[in-house]
Amino acid sequence: MSNRKNKRDYYDVLGVSKDATENDIKLAYRRLARKFHPDMNKTDPNAKEKFIEVQEAYEVLNDPDKRRNYDRFGFSGVDVNMSDIFSGGIPGIDELFRSIFGGGGSSGFGDIFDSFGGFGSRSRSRTRAPRRQVGQDIEAHIEIDFEEAMFGVKKDIELERYTPCDHCEGTGAEDPSAVTSCPKCQGTGKMRTMSRSGFGTIIRESECYNCNGTGQIIKKKCKVCGGKKMVPETKKIHVKIPSGVEDGVHLKVQGAGHIPSKQAIPGDLYIGIRVHPNEHFIRRGNDLYTRADVDIVSAILGDKIKVPTLDYKNNIITEKELEIPPGTQHGTEFRIKNRGATYLRGKGKGDQYIVVAVEIPKEISKEQRELLFKYKELSKKS
Ligand SMILES: [Zn+2]
Ligand SMILES: [Zn+2]
Repeated sequence: MSNRKNKRDYYDVLGVSKDATENDIKLAYRRLARKFHPDMNKTDPNAKEKFIEVQEAYEVLNDPDKRRNYDRFGFSGVDVNMSDIFSGGIPGIDELFRSIFGGGGSSGFGDIFDSFGGFGSRSRSRTRAPRRQVGQDIEAHIEIDFEEAMFGVKKDIELERYTPCDHCEGTGAEDPSAVTSCPKCQGTGKMRTMSRSGFGTIIRESECYNCNGTGQIIKKKCKVCGGKKMVPETKKIHVKIPSGVEDGVHLKVQGAGHIPSKQAIPGDLYIGIRVHPNEHFIRRGNDLYTRADVDIVSAILGDKIKVPTLDYKNNIITEKELEIPPGTQHGTEFRIKNRGATYLRGKGKGDQYIVVAVEIPKEISKEQRELLFKYKELSKKS
């Protein structure tokens, strides 16, 4: 991963476009860092490497100077190697997010794991005043056709998320009034151990073994959620995908993620969009490129051809007549203004470029051949 040759483009790593805003980059980073942080992801054997890759992409793209250099000179313009920086170990994600984003750390990370009481990392410490719990995000994917991406489309997504268990009012106990405070940690969920070293006393905080860090003792678990405090729910989400959406972007639906408790802030839903390619249009930024095959005679004499284009009035792909002037060269580009993709931010649309591909016939008839020889003769004289 540290090998420069094998590095993936930073924009690809974060799944954002080249004109992504600072906020796009932050959002993408948060989402991916949570997804691949080794404390969090115990299933993907490459999670750590992916996490480092994400961190590195963020370090560069989030810094305007580094980003500019990267845009101009690629990897050689920036000297960042997170594998070295993290060689001493990767900090817990809460700690990391606090150092990056500052604040009280409503990172949303891990809260769902607390509620499940068992898997995931417990390394982060819960310090200071109780903060509002934030539900974990959900990631979903949808595939749409090129036309749907160009004109916008409405889609229904079905997702499974966790919501507080009604039966036990989110306590996890069959009898919510029978929940008692853990005697070993006095309900704090934490144990403190002290050790002395040459530098002084080190106080280590760890999770209480008696209550698994919950601070509570539940004698009889809720029979509906089995003590998990939450139950799965199938939810249908109606999403409006805006005109101009690009392959690889993520749409955020605020509050559609997991809800660990009634007081918690729900997590968000991120919908990754895959756009199927279209044989007639290649997208570059917000411009579209269409290849038009023109036979050699039409290129020489001029002609009218039909080209596919977007009809934004009727939201269909239609055909438009295009005039090819006499003497048109191979590779000539004709621009059709405002027939590209809609800008998601700001106003307007990109343009469509028709790129002429002059076709040389592989086979011709005897008569055509004779005419061409005659043409050759005439060319010599003039
Ligand atoms: Zn329950
Ligand atoms: Zn305890």
